[in-house]
Amino acid sequence: MKLLEDRIMQDGIVLPGDVLKVDQFLNHQVDPDLMMAMGKEFAKLFKDEKITKILTVESSGIAPAVFVGLQFHVPVVFARKNKSITMQNDLYSASVYSYTKKVENTIAVANKFLGENDRVLIIDDFLANGQAAEGLFKICDEAKAEIAGIGIVIEKSFQKGAELIHKRGVRLEALAKISSFDGDQVHFED
Ligand code: 5GP
Repeated sequence: MKLLEDRIMQDGIVLPGDVLKVDQFLNHQVDPDLMMAMGKEFAKLFKDEKITKILTVESSGIAPAVFVGLQFHVPVVFARKNKSITMQNDLYSASVYSYTKKVENTIAVANKFLGENDRVLIIDDFLANGQAAEGLFKICDEAKAEIAGIGIVIEKSFQKGAELIHKRGVRLEALAKISSFDGDQVHFED
């Protein structure tokens, strides 16, 4: 998606450890016009998939996920990282290693928000090694929900997440695919 690639070129900052900082428009400050355009793009890509629910993980997946939900007019569920006192039982959960924070988190979704009648579109901001995606797959499996696909805003194609998802046979669509970082330069796949 040209609009997103241009924005990454303009505002993205490459940090050590193959991390791209995009807090100008996605991870801290959010650009709603760009989010809307991305929501429409995902909706176009997955339009025939009979999506009943969008699933993401807090916090940076929420903004793009809501804009996809707006297009499909279906609920958006975000897996929570810290079990709150209002969320004690009846949970689907998974353990996820955070690429950026380098800690293991338990993510959880209440049973009542996901079930066997759902066809789920997973949305997340980044795909690196696929840990967040795997955790969300596990939650869908526990809920017996069908996974219609996964939509990623920025895929770092040189890391192993994409291969892992393909091996599982899940449809993967990314709006920007980064093939490499070269110093502070970002290179996209053709
Ligand atoms: P994975 O689980 O695929 O290894 O990493 C994906 C998760 O880690 C995303 O949900 C995202 O929050 C975070 N992440 C991975 N790589 C990056 C990156 O380059 N920049 C930012 N801002 N977050 C990243």
